[in-house]
Amino acid sequence: METSSLATWEQRWHPLREEWVVVAAHRQDRPWQGERAVVPATRVPEYVENCFFCPRNLRVSGARNPDYQSVFVFDNDHPCVGPDAPRQVEPPPGIYRNAPATGVARVVCYTPKHNTTLAELPVDQIAALLDAWRDQYLELGARPEIRHVLTFENKGEVVGVSNPHPHGQIYATNFVFKTIENEAAAGRRYYDEHRRVLFTDILRSELADGRRILFESASAVVFVPYFARYAYECYVAPKETHASLATMSASERRDLAVALKSLLVRYDNLWQMSFPYVLVLHQAPTDDGDYSGFHFHIECHPPLRKPHLLKYLAGPEIGGGNFLSDTRPEAKAAELLAVPDVHYRLRDVANLDETHA
Ligand SMILES: [Zn+2]
Ligand SMILES: [Zn+2]
Repeated sequence: METSSLATWEQRWHPLREEWVVVAAHRQDRPWQGERAVVPATRVPEYVENCFFCPRNLRVSGARNPDYQSVFVFDNDHPCVGPDAPRQVEPPPGIYRNAPATGVARVVCYTPKHNTTLAELPVDQIAALLDAWRDQYLELGARPEIRHVLTFENKGEVVGVSNPHPHGQIYATNFVFKTIENEAAAGRRYYDEHRRVLFTDILRSELADGRRILFESASAVVFVPYFARYAYECYVAPKETHASLATMSASERRDLAVALKSLLVRYDNLWQMSFPYVLVLHQAPTDDGDYSGFHFHIECHPPLRKPHLLKYLAGPEIGGGNFLSDTRPEAKAAELLAVPDVHYRLRDVANLDETHA
């Protein structure tokens, strides 16, 4: 067998989800052959007249966007949870339960510039976004009916986003999202047993191993977790334990912005395309629970295994609930480390300037 030393065929325990991930990378985990995604060379302008998110434009609700200069947050015009959800719901049949879908859904525009992405924003503006995310967490989390604030970005058409204007969303709900509930419970059990924070021990293990670390600074780390479910899954985290962005210092938030940018630039550089992902902030619930052992982090779940190849969720994932991965996290981390840390679109511009000089 070729490359048997690089083959991995085993189960890895996901300590935050408390479930197995089957890594079956013994057959097709070959280095990437260098194929590039075909990206149409369209020139998208900074401002688009019919974009609902661009400054000064009218939205479907009839509201007009301000002439914003930085981050702009507004209530989602098509909320999935909202204050207008019916308070009276149909009585459920039999053993079933239901409840009003109250809550707050918001859209967070990262920048007025339609033709950029989070990866391409300067660190200062990413830090400003972290500040906005923190403010939203504090404001919405303070409401008695809000038990959890889920902040996320869906990026790319393959995850269903049709408007490329750089933006994310916030769902502030009257329930705690399942993954967070599981992580909080796993962390609590771990703390009871070991008197240590689970995520801190994950960081310690990752740093000691080192093969999956993509970035490390005084206060922040980026890594492909040992137990990654998606090929290019990555975590961005502060080293110190904070239950949310709310308790992080300005310098820690800035370090986190630098760390996040470094990851997103590597993503885009991997295939020289705007890399699709689901990015999510895992912050502690805002109900009255004790979350002292909860360690805030950002997770990125890219759906692509190769430029045109989606990770399909099938029998094991949908049918059984556990992930089957045919890639080694160590190999994926090596791929990400091998690409430059300067965004290819900036390099292209620099090269153009050189040839024109
Ligand atoms: Zn726009
Ligand atoms: Zn998490």
